[in-house]
Amino acid sequence: MAFFGLENENLLAVAIVAVIVFFATASRRPSRRCSRCREINREQAVYCAQCGVRLPGR
Ligand SMILES: [Zn+2]
Repeated sequence: MAFFGLENENLLAVAIVAVIVFFATASRRPSRRCSRCREINREQAVYCAQCGVRLPGR
C-alpha cells in the first residue's frame, strides 16, 4: 500500500471503500435468475432451487 502514501490516511480509506464497493457490486451481479419464478440461483446452478426448472445457458 506504499504507493498510496501512508501519510495520507484519507486517500487510503477512500481506496479501501472503493475496493469494498467493487467486490460488493461484483458479487451482487445477477448470476442465474430463473425465468419462471425469478429466484436468483448460484452461478453453478443448472436447475432452479425454487421451482426446479432448468436454467437457460450452459
Ligand atoms: Zn424457478
